[in-house]
Amino acid sequence: MSKVAIVTGAARGIGAATAQRLAQDGFAVAVLDLKADDCADTVSAIESAGGKALAVGADVSDAEQVQAAVDRIAAELGPPVVLVNNAGVTRDNLLFKMSDADWDVVMNVHLRGSFLMTRAAQKHMIEAKWGRIVNLSSTSALGNRGQANYATAKAGLQGFTKTLAIELGKFGVTANSIAPGFIQTEMTKATAERIGEEWESYVAKRAAAIPVARAGIPEDIAHTVSFFVSEGAGFISGQVVYVAGGPRN
Ligand code: NAP
Repeated sequence: MSKVAIVTGAARGIGAATAQRLAQDGFAVAVLDLKADDCADTVSAIESAGGKALAVGADVSDAEQVQAAVDRIAAELGPPVVLVNNAGVTRDNLLFKMSDADWDVVMNVHLRGSFLMTRAAQKHMIEAKWGRIVNLSSTSALGNRGQANYATAKAGLQGFTKTLAIELGKFGVTANSIAPGFIQTEMTKATAERIGEEWESYVAKRAAAIPVARAGIPEDIAHTVSFFVSEGAGFISGQVVYVAGGPRN
C-alpha cells in the first residue's frame, strides 16, 4: 500500500508540524496550502530530515482546484490514504457586527473545504481498503464569544466526522476529529493583535487558565494526528478528542 498523506493548510502552524510528523512516521506528504510557494519551508524541513514531500497550491473551498490537486498528488506521490483537513481561517466578530462575507468564508474554508477534500480523497482510500481521515475541530465548537461563524463550522466538522466514520468504516477507513484548545500559531497571534494584547502576556494569561499550566504548541496536535493515523488506531472512529491541556478550553 502507498503511504501517502495530504495535510491541508500545511504552510505553517499546526498543519506544518503535522506534515513534518507524518513524514517522520514514514509518509510521503502532500503539503497543501493556498499558494505552493508558501509550502517551501515545510517541504524543505521534511526533505532535510530525509522525508519526501510535495508542495501543492490549492484553495480547499474550490471544487476544481481540489480535484486537480488530489489528481496531481495521486499521480506524483501515489494514492493518498491519509487526509488531514486542517486549513482554516477566522473572521471573528460579535454576531451583530458579523458580515455575510465573514460568515461565508469561514463556512467555505472549514466545511466546504473539508467536504471537497474528503470527497476527492476517499476514492483512493476505498480502493486501498485502508484510510485515515482527521478533521481539525476546536474547543470553540462548544461556543465562543465573537466566533458564531467559526464555532458553527467547528461543531459542523464533528457531525461530518461521525458521518464519515459510519459511511466509510466498512472500507477500512476511520475518521476522527481533534479539537485543540489554545495553540500558539499565527492564527492565535492574530487574535491577540485584534484584541490589542501583547503576545507574551496574552499567552501567559491563556496558560494560567489551562490545567497543565502551559499553552499548546503545534506538535501537541501533530502527535494526536499521528496516533489517529497509526495502524493500531483502526478501531477508533467517529471520535472527537479535545487536546486542550485539560477537560475544557
Ligand atoms: P494558521 O497558522 O492560520 O494556518 C492555517 C493555514 O491554512 C494557513 O497556512 C492558511 O493559508 C491556510 N489556509 C487558509 N485558507 C485556506 C484555503 N482556502 N485553502 C488552503 N489553505 C488555506 O492556523 P493554525 O492555528 O495552524 O490552525 C490550523 C487548524 O487548527 C485550523 O483549522 C484551526 O481552525 C484549527 N485550530 C487552531 C487552534 C489554535 O489555537 N491555533 C485551536 C483550535 C483549532 P494563508 O496563510 O495563505 O491564509
